[in-house]
Amino acid sequence: MNTLLFFDINGTLIKRDERTDLPYSNAVNAFLGTENAMKGVDTSARSDKDVFMEVLKRHKMDFNQRKWEEFLILYTSELKRFAGTDVWRTNADAVPFVRALHDAGYTMALISGELSIGAEFKLKKIGIWNCFQAGGFGEDGLKRFDIADSALSRVMAMNNLPFDSIYVIGDTVLDIQTARHLGAKSIAITTGSHSRVKLLSEEPDYCIDMFSELKDLLLSE
Ligand SMILES: [Mg+2]
Repeated sequence: MNTLLFFDINGTLIKRDERTDLPYSNAVNAFLGTENAMKGVDTSARSDKDVFMEVLKRHKMDFNQRKWEEFLILYTSELKRFAGTDVWRTNADAVPFVRALHDAGYTMALISGELSIGAEFKLKKIGIWNCFQAGGFGEDGLKRFDIADSALSRVMAMNNLPFDSIYVIGDTVLDIQTARHLGAKSIAITTGSHSRVKLLSEEPDYCIDMFSELKDLLLSE
């Protein structure tokens, strides 16, 4: 078997609700000295770095590397603070399914707008961080396709053989478009930001409500 599986994080592996992004919004508020800097900002399927730049713009501030590094220090301390809480929980049956895929020998990687530090905290919390060989993250690009290109080139550099098939699994139409961008098959899951109707309008190869629906496709011997 030589299949590569890419996973999105929020709304796919991690259940997304109003608390999921508290460490990020707290860090942005702390950085700006405000209470609700994220109000009206759509973060769904976007790069965390792109979102940070938009928030600065809304506050008439220019982005620079020093500000970014300052923000990362605040964000990391918020992530540490929330690591002991229940803000990050598994989405649907993601954890047992990802572990089963890992045990079955699949190469798995991440494509997410989440920063790598946030991805690590979240996926360590639900116990599947070590199932993923590599990833493309929010600091690798402002747009999803650039992040996906980084993820794919990292995985290719770590594996000698080309892959027979590649899948991208995610909860938004952007994940389906990303699959198409990479020449991969798309698996849309209805547990996140976008409804089944919206996902189907982008014509994914598969559309599921639970990971166990992929058993026949990926785990049948
Ligand atoms: Mg998502």
